[in-house]
Amino acid sequence: MNAAASGAHLSEVYPTLPFEPVGGEGVYLEDAAGRRVLDLYAGHAVAALGYRHPRLVEAVAEQARTLFFQSNAVPLRVRDEAAQTLADFAPEPLERVFFVNSGAEANENALRLALKLTRRTGVVAVEHAFHGRTAAAGAVTWPPGKSWYGFPRTPMDVAFVARDDVAALRAAVDDRTAAVILEPVQGLAGAYALSPEFCRAARKACDETGALLILDEVQTGIGRLGAPFGADLLGIAPDLLTTAKGLAGGLPAGAVLMRQEVASELGSGSLGTTFGGGPVTCAAITAVIDTIRREGLLDRVRAVSAQIRASCRVGPVRSVHGMGFLLGLVTGPPAAAVRDALLERSILTGTSVDPHVLRLLPPLILDDEHAARLAAALGDLDDATL
Ligand code: PLP
Repeated sequence: MNAAASGAHLSEVYPTLPFEPVGGEGVYLEDAAGRRVLDLYAGHAVAALGYRHPRLVEAVAEQARTLFFQSNAVPLRVRDEAAQTLADFAPEPLERVFFVNSGAEANENALRLALKLTRRTGVVAVEHAFHGRTAAAGAVTWPPGKSWYGFPRTPMDVAFVARDDVAALRAAVDDRTAAVILEPVQGLAGAYALSPEFCRAARKACDETGALLILDEVQTGIGRLGAPFGADLLGIAPDLLTTAKGLAGGLPAGAVLMRQEVASELGSGSLGTTFGGGPVTCAAITAVIDTIRREGLLDRVRAVSAQIRASCRVGPVRSVHGMGFLLGLVTGPPAAAVRDALLERSILTGTSVDPHVLRLLPPLILDDEHAARLAAALGDLDDATL
């Protein structure tokens, strides 16, 4: 193996799986030897349309040929179109969009906006949450202290409340609270959905105290739950919503969506980014959302998700939770052992912080035959061999 192939110059911060894709088509990845692997993980939920989707490939190629890059220093029609398409897809009051490059950057900006606009210093977050690896996003990530990524202190005061504990939430949110931040379904934690009552209580507590509600839909947004956003399913309107991952189907992209009242308090130059809102990424964003609509992918996510829930409680799987295509398969043996056994059978899945939850985050184009293949592979496994 030569130095490049062995990763001799990459910092060794990631454990990697024993499969090296060189190409992909639809929901399949392929290695240099021609082995095809069914991808139920989509690169941490990013490849929303799978691989080589013609609409996405053509939109990116066409934009690359026309104008590869320009920053926010100039207006761009392709950026306006992406913002319009995203705002139309999002729940109603979220009319304004600020494009960034990642989930952490989206959360960093949303938190900063909340602190700035309310002139308060506190944020309430939920135990087991994951919001990213930058200073503010890390500060609202569970567990406290351990997740500050080496920063000696947090940039704001953070209080964590237990999942679904409405009384604790009410007690924690007061007139010093700038924002409550929550994921409708906690992704990295293991696909744990927060109860609608808890999320609605967060909206109410914010209304009563003047705090802003931030929904982190970095993982749950862009159709992953079988609705455009988790906010649609919960029937609550956040003041700020962050999204990323599937947004551009594979190019680095994030967005902060906000109500008009929030946007109108921002002065020119109050937020900034070099790469966010670049033309190729924006062309991809429009193509992803158009494709979700045109191909009826939200209906498909709901139907195939129901099939997985009904058929995959077999072999090492004790129960299935989560929503849409953010599913947690609760395993008797360690989830990592189940993931490895599935990969030997050419099915790629993921794990989570919960050692007994195998996470599925497939491309939104997954169909019933693929789900049947997963159920059959799981049925072939048993606890004793894992
Ligand atoms: N928020 C949530 C809910 C996430 O799942 C993630 C990433 O997994 C992030 C934020 C951070 O996103 P990124 O890795 O793009 O910075």
